[in-house]
Amino acid sequence: MNTRRNFIRTTGLTALAGFSGIETLFAAGRKQVKKSGKGLVLRFIPYDLQLRHTFTLANSSRKNTPDVLTSLEFEGVTGYGEASMPPYLGESVDSVTRFLSSLNLSQFNDPFQMDKILQYVDSVMPGYCAEKAAVDIALHDLVGKLMGQPWYKIWGFDPADAPNTSFTIGIDTPEVVRQKVAEAAPYKILKVKLGQKTDREMVETIRSATNAPLCVDVNQGWTDRQMALDMIHWLKEKGVVFVEQPMPKTAIDDMAWLTENSPLPTVGDESVQRLPDVGKAKGVYSGINIKLMKCTGMREAHQMLTLARSLNMKVMIGCMTETSCAISAAAQLSPKCDWADLDGNLLISNDPYSGIQVVDGKVTLIDKPGIGIHNLQTIF
Ligand code: MG
Repeated sequence: MNTRRNFIRTTGLTALAGFSGIETLFAAGRKQVKKSGKGLVLRFIPYDLQLRHTFTLANSSRKNTPDVLTSLEFEGVTGYGEASMPPYLGESVDSVTRFLSSLNLSQFNDPFQMDKILQYVDSVMPGYCAEKAAVDIALHDLVGKLMGQPWYKIWGFDPADAPNTSFTIGIDTPEVVRQKVAEAAPYKILKVKLGQKTDREMVETIRSATNAPLCVDVNQGWTDRQMALDMIHWLKEKGVVFVEQPMPKTAIDDMAWLTENSPLPTVGDESVQRLPDVGKAKGVYSGINIKLMKCTGMREAHQMLTLARSLNMKVMIGCMTETSCAISAAAQLSPKCDWADLDGNLLISNDPYSGIQVVDGKVTLIDKPGIGIHNLQTIF
């Protein structure tokens, strides 16, 4: 019921509140169920993610993240996915609806033809990366369930190799920062968002509350390379282990200079969206941050991971604010990553799924088929 109320509120379909199921809502006019006989059946539903704390980056802040939950059904087996849409990526519930409505997945009668299906999804329109991830994740979940195996096993990874995950402490007043650090006590590594005038104060405030290792994400916030290098030297003394996207993604030459001279590894995030960006990042960054919502999902994420490893680059698996669905999907790759930043589900208060857990700060995969989640609410 809770989910249905959220959906109705999100879409403004209050007149339909008395209908008995989500399918009835879809059948009532939105035409979001693509069904024809034996093919794949795609469903989707908007779901607004409520953030526990106002989330502040270098250039913006917000209290919620629009999201769309998807399901892909084949002969009674259902896989789940989602598209998370932080506003700065330019995607929205409207863009997801437009993209997913344009797909004809019922033409595919064999979900194991993942290559063909996902090439089709990618070819429909350029961009729409989160939308494509929403289909990709659901397809992986579905195929994993049909195989009876989790994806980390299908890929041949050892779950014991999964790294600790960092937990993000957003920019805030010293009092709130200390409270957030106290809440983050179970995590072995904290992530700090920098890129404002108060950077040193922020790090000092965290250091007054914990000795845990830190990683920093500047979100392109530093524009002077010498100042950036000075900051990185200072951050190293403060127990920082790597620096994510210190400079604007367009500052390629400055960034290559910074990486060459930096005493800490640098990681490209905004600079590295999809597979072709990995090769371009070689020599510019020490490593890359892979996120499913940027790279269209698990299939391309796995390709990026493989390519980055072959180029001897570091790999971080990251996330947006998203539910345990996309987090558990990303976590399937984590055993082959140096660092994980998979706290997006922990930053929201209305997660409709349960999936991977963080135990003693470590990403802990479970032996459950697909992406390893179960529903806490009836959604589809
Ligand atoms: Mg980042």
